[in-house]
Amino acid sequence: MVRGELDLTSSRRTAEARRMVEDVTRLVVLAATGIEEYQASLLRGMRPVLDAHNLSRLVYLDSEETEALSANFVQFLRRSGAVGLLTTQLCHQQHLEELVELAAELSLPTVVIGAEDDDLSCVRGDNITGMRALMGHLLDECGVRRPVLVRGWAFQQDSAEREAVFREELAARGIPVDEELVIEGRFVSDIAHRALRTLLRRRRDFDAVVACNDPAAHGCITALTEAGLEVPDDVLVTGFDNNQDTLHWPGLTTVDQSLAEQGSTAAELLVAQLEGRSARPTVCVPSRLVVRDSTAVESRTEHEQLNAALQMVTSARTRIANRDTSANFTRTTLTCRTLDDVLETLVSSLEWFKLRRCFVAIRADLCGALQDLPTSLFTDTTGSPDGQPASASTVRLLLDYRDGVPHPPPPDPYPAHLLLPDSLRGQLTEGMLVVSTLVVGQREYGHLLTERHDAALATYATLHVDLARALDTVFSRRALEAHASNLEAVVDRRTEELEHRTEELARRTRDLQAEVITRMRAEQQLQVANSELRQTAMRDGLTGIANRAAFELHLAHHWETLTAAGGPLTMLLVDVDRFKNYNDNYGHIAGDDTLRAVADCLRRSACRPDDLVARYGGEEFAAVLPQGNANAGLTVAMRFQTLLAEQALPHAASDIAPVVTASVGIAVVHPARRPEPTDLVAAADRALYRAKQLGRNRAVLVEDDETATDVATGPQHRAPRPEHPAPRHPAAEPEHNGPQSV
Ligand code: GH3
Ligand code: MG
Ligand code: MG
Repeated sequence: MVRGELDLTSSRRTAEARRMVEDVTRLVVLAATGIEEYQASLLRGMRPVLDAHNLSRLVYLDSEETEALSANFVQFLRRSGAVGLLTTQLCHQQHLEELVELAAELSLPTVVIGAEDDDLSCVRGDNITGMRALMGHLLDECGVRRPVLVRGWAFQQDSAEREAVFREELAARGIPVDEELVIEGRFVSDIAHRALRTLLRRRRDFDAVVACNDPAAHGCITALTEAGLEVPDDVLVTGFDNNQDTLHWPGLTTVDQSLAEQGSTAAELLVAQLEGRSARPTVCVPSRLVVRDSTAVESRTEHEQLNAALQMVTSARTRIANRDTSANFTRTTLTCRTLDDVLETLVSSLEWFKLRRCFVAIRADLCGALQDLPTSLFTDTTGSPDGQPASASTVRLLLDYRDGVPHPPPPDPYPAHLLLPDSLRGQLTEGMLVVSTLVVGQREYGHLLTERHDAALATYATLHVDLARALDTVFSRRALEAHASNLEAVVDRRTEELEHRTEELARRTRDLQAEVITRMRAEQQLQVANSELRQTAMRDGLTGIANRAAFELHLAHHWETLTAAGGPLTMLLVDVDRFKNYNDNYGHIAGDDTLRAVADCLRRSACRPDDLVARYGGEEFAAVLPQGNANAGLTVAMRFQTLLAEQALPHAASDIAPVVTASVGIAVVHPARRPEPTDLVAAADRALYRAKQLGRNRAVLVEDDETATDVATGPQHRAPRPEHPAPRHPAAEPEHNGPQSV
């Protein structure tokens, strides 16, 4: 089923088919490649025969652009109810084969013109009779004895038949064929011109040129003229086909294929089939000789020559006018921008084209809003399932021009294969409309129906081509504009999206940076808090100096360092004398104040950066002096004793002095020689114990290597070295201020 019919109900389809049949009951279709001299002559011959049998006709022009026959033409033939088909050769061999097959399928009486086929009714021109008459004219009337033959294509049937008659007629008169005078013209003027020019360089002993068609004959006349020879005075020239659209002088003697007679014969063969009579498969129509000035034996009178010249001028004027009209239309349509422009240009040219009727139908999908052009405009429409271009099946009539006036066309779309909308279908059977598809490449735009005032002599072959090109320009431009604007919109959208994303990215980067800063701050705060916490954990709550844990860490650290680096480590252990009594006498709160004062004295005594003063526990304090030797230990001890003495904190319950005093144990060790830091603490403890034993309020030093034995056996403390005199307690005479204690 054809796409365009999908919306029709079956009852509508039946009604449509019936209506078409009623409208065009007596319609004969002629398929042709154009309306040129050839087809116009055929039509001229057909007309009286078809008229006599009340058969109307419609010419369907085949399109070179498409591989297959126009799908609309096929549908038209299937559904129009046309009663007969006449066809010439078409643009492609395949088109003719397809058409003949379709006609057979539809049992449509058919006659093919210009072909020979045993299974078909055919009409063709006869080469023999005319050629024989031409040779007779040359050899017998003009006395030609040495003619040149300008072949067409040696293998081609027409050329071969014409050559055969040439040879036969010479032989019949006992004239041998001079093979050097048989040259190749290939039916083309230029090739024939070159071939004869080459021959003329070698010899000029011929008296006639017999060319296998008219263009080749004209090429030969040019070559002869260039060589200084005159036609017909020096050499006679003949052609074949009797082309009348040429403006050559002198007029060419030729063979006329009786095209009008071929047309009338074809029409008669069709009528015979319509009437049920059997027709001969192929009819050859005799050709006839046309004698003109190129072989004139007697020169014509001046009057005759003047008349011939005037006729040529009139014919030339008509041809030039027609070509001007075509050229003007081509030029004007080049500037068209819109569909309206194209239609206006066409309407204004119709009078020049001498058109009596003109209908333009355009694809319905292209007639609406041009900005919404279907994408199929640029796609290959030949690939649709039924071979029908997808959107060409429905058309709208945009121009209804009859008898010099454009009428408002009916607005409704209709199936393209109907050619005209319902209200105008009667037009198909009036006169002779020529239908051509408006197609450029694979793009089909609709169709054009025209009829000239002088229907048989149409020369508007280029009209449908120009119109199709103009439509193609308009629609292609609009489609490209639409495409470009779509692209622009896409680019705008993408740019916007990109900007949006960039902004979003910038925002996220900012957020991330803020988060990083916040985290860094939090971490800093945490570090501060941790360090504060660490410091708090390392401080003694009562005195504010380092606590026992900090003391141990500090000692361990320097023990390790000095184990590797070497050097002594000195420690002081300080114990407040009779402090239990102090508490008992003054109370714990006063005791706490005193402990703070003692701690402060010790803190102020150890001044080096690495020195650490700590509360060791209860009323005991420690000082670690890294790199400190015995002198350092004694110096710090003396400073402390002095500072404490300066405080003069009353201690009425002490049996040592009336003020607060303290005993100090000093130990010096070399960590490299000792296994554990506890050795140092133990040594300091022993020295303190010794100081207590010796009467308190003093310092005792225990040196590294002698500690163990000295403490137990010999004098356990020694005198400070001369450069470090031991201070005396200002408030109390030391009990034991011998040389070993301070
Ligand atoms: P010695 O001369 O032999 O050192 O006698 P001492 O009384 O000083 O020694 P003992 O070990 O008998 O007593 C230490 C006292 O220190 C007992 C305790 O009440 C007191 N003490 C320990 N820690 C604190 C503290 O934080 N504050 C106060 N006020 N007193 C403390
Ligand atoms: Mg104690
Ligand atoms: Mg004590």
